[in-house]
Amino acid sequence: MLELSRHALHADRIINLPKFKTHSQMYLTAGVKNTFGCVVGTRKAQWHFKAGTDRIFFARMLVEVYHAVDPDLTILDSIVAMEGDGPGTGGTPRPIGLLAAATDAVALDRTMLDIAGGDPDSFFTLRAAADVGVGETDPARIRVLGDGAEQFRQRNFNFPKTGKIAVGPKALQRFIVNHLTARPVEDRSKCTLCNKCIEICPTEIISAKDGRLAFNYDKCIRCFCCVEVCPEGAMKPVTPLLLKIVS
Ligand code: SF4
Ligand code: SF4
Repeated sequence: MLELSRHALHADRIINLPKFKTHSQMYLTAGVKNTFGCVVGTRKAQWHFKAGTDRIFFARMLVEVYHAVDPDLTILDSIVAMEGDGPGTGGTPRPIGLLAAATDAVALDRTMLDIAGGDPDSFFTLRAAADVGVGETDPARIRVLGDGAEQFRQRNFNFPKTGKIAVGPKALQRFIVNHLTARPVEDRSKCTLCNKCIEICPTEIISAKDGRLAFNYDKCIRCFCCVEVCPEGAMKPVTPLLLKIVS
């Protein structure tokens, strides 16, 4: 059972305020994913753990959270968005100069995907929303008002190389996750060993040893919470050589 914030569920009105960013696990984070913030404290980590490397499952759960929270309005900040290996400091600021709002965050996410020039099949929350029939995912049925989307259209927006979804037998899954999926790596010159990544890791696979961090990558679910939480910008998603070649 998903436990959501009582304050969110009992609020008279909910205004959802996401930032438009790339996400190394989920491709993009925007209106729908932002409502995951209504899952209470440590439960977020538990749900990351339950989803593991199954992005489809995780996306489905994000859509369920969005549907339950049901924001009245989503105001998305992409005045300065993020591209590259977001959502943490692995990403790079990307000025788009757009503040966009919608009552349907799914339609908003779909429109932002088009503006950035992304691939609908890689945007897992959008796929999940279409599967369960939440929000509008068909661009032909989305009416864009105001300045229109065209003038904000981006060229060469840098999307993360999210890698492959692990399918098939366990040994194959491990190979795919280890060799075809970006993994978190700390930059030792920046890491202050503050332990924040160790505390947030839902699978508890980061430890500090001999003045540096150690990872058990076999159990890493690539949620990149460690990247997002690092205050020094020391933790980054790093693309394995094989994924670079395949990409
Ligand atoms: S959160 Fe960043 S600075 Fe802190 S221990 Fe982890 S990598 Fe190092
Ligand atoms: S090491 Fe980082 S990416 Fe891997 S499970 Fe822990 S928090 Fe998630």
